[in-house]
Amino acid sequence: MRNNLDRLGGAHSPQSDVPQMDGGNGLSFVVPTEHVELPSKGLHYPTNHPLHGQETVEIRFMTAKDEDTLTSKSLIKKGVVIDKLISDLIIDKQVRTDSLLIGDRNAIIVAARMSGYGPDYDTKVSCPSCNKSQEYSFDLQSPQINYALDDEALTNLGVVKTQEGYLQITLPMSKFQITFRLLTGREEKYIVEKLASKTVVNNETNATDVLRLTILAVNGSGDRQQIEQLINALPARDSIYFKKLLKMITPNISYTNTFECRFCGFDTEMEVPFTADFFWVNR
Ligand SMILES: [Zn+2]
Repeated sequence: MRNNLDRLGGAHSPQSDVPQMDGGNGLSFVVPTEHVELPSKGLHYPTNHPLHGQETVEIRFMTAKDEDTLTSKSLIKKGVVIDKLISDLIIDKQVRTDSLLIGDRNAIIVAARMSGYGPDYDTKVSCPSCNKSQEYSFDLQSPQINYALDDEALTNLGVVKTQEGYLQITLPMSKFQITFRLLTGREEKYIVEKLASKTVVNNETNATDVLRLTILAVNGSGDRQQIEQLINALPARDSIYFKKLLKMITPNISYTNTFECRFCGFDTEMEVPFTADFFWVNR
């Protein structure tokens, strides 16, 4: 049994929370929905994407069936638990989970968890210094949100938006003009899987993977071979510049708290990881 039933609802006020009789055919319950604010404000989706220009996305509250999804051994094994949950929760079935920008995906995950279990995220963390495990609590109601920059702010960073909704920048060293997009859940999964399959985590590979997945064209040409050549020969300064820029303009939601060890006093910044564990509560 879950021990936090009392938190159900939490800070959320459902739009419809009263079971209604359905024309005498039995009990029907309209699962409440809510509009989740998208950190991207819909600004970085290509023009043909259903979330292009949308500041929010409608999701329904979590139900007992979603709990089954979260505990499904086969889904966990395949690493698709969160994808399945998001896909079930989004009302507009034209929105494909793997096409969501990472920040928007995380915002949906947070909203879903709050609708199911309330705003307190109690978890156990191990102190990086003395290794002792201890309870730690995050308040999900106070996120740090990095919203998408508007066109003017992008222009000030030298970034131009293309007609299709992609981004363009001229690299400072090589002067190559690259067209790129921000990472979606699909690409993030690819990177995570690739890293997980390696015995040694190699940051250098990760760096070129990010370039490979974001860069769509060089000097107007989308030829993958040319892009590959560029990536392999890209001056480190350009690569570092581009990654810093990506971080700055990528919309996201995060929770960073200062953790102080109860046992040894060590303090550090802790960030909530949005994995399947995020949904783990005492059931
Ligand atoms: Zn410690």
